[in-house]
Amino acid sequence: MPEGPSIIILRESLDQFKGKQIISITGNSKINQSRLLNKQVLDFKSWGKHLLICFDDFTVKIHLLMFGSYTINDQKDRDPRLLLSFINGYVNFYSCSVKILEGYVDMHYDFSSDVMSDSWDQVKALAKLKDIPNTMICDALLEQDIFAGVGNIIKNEALFRVKVHPESTVANIPIPLLQETISEARNYSFDFLKWRKEFVLKKHYQIYNQKLCHNCNSPITRKNTGVKNRRSFFCPNCQKKY
Ligand SMILES: [Zn+2]
Repeated sequence: MPEGPSIIILRESLDQFKGKQIISITGNSKINQSRLLNKQVLDFKSWGKHLLICFDDFTVKIHLLMFGSYTINDQKDRDPRLLLSFINGYVNFYSCSVKILEGYVDMHYDFSSDVMSDSWDQVKALAKLKDIPNTMICDALLEQDIFAGVGNIIKNEALFRVKVHPESTVANIPIPLLQETISEARNYSFDFLKWRKEFVLKKHYQIYNQKLCHNCNSPITRKNTGVKNRRSFFCPNCQKKY
């Protein structure tokens, strides 16, 4: 599943169509497609793992889910869910969820919970964590209402950076360390974006999919953790369980 930074790369690559009119639309999506025809795209935004195509009085939400993909000025050998054509090019979305949200985009999204947004609010994130004291930090970091955009890679790498065991309970983690964890979820997301753009993301993994700890060289544990039952990688030697 793409994490927040990958959606930012998608959003940036769509910039060429900003302000342009949709001159044709097709695809097997069930939305009322005629509504988009001849409409001008005001903006492309993202919130976590959602791409938002903004029009004057509605927004098209694209969620790539587990296996979604897209091509720009290129196509795959299968039917797209949505194909949008502009005077200067086209974009195809495949195997994704497509929905129309009525009204302006800000009515539907709180951008202060998107870890990569300029409006990101770390204080709010800490308050939300305090509301779920019994949750394991591995689950909390994947809560999109708190950390929109954080996926499993960012979760594991951020926890390794702050040396916190993924099965630590939120209430047991000292506040300064919890604040550091929140900061690293954002910091790592920007590193992820930079490395992904340079095609060197995997080379920089410190814990995700690794065998030996990059810090102490002891074997890394891989285990499904939390109620979300998602894969965690951690060093039992370096990462403390609170
Ligand atoms: Zn270690």
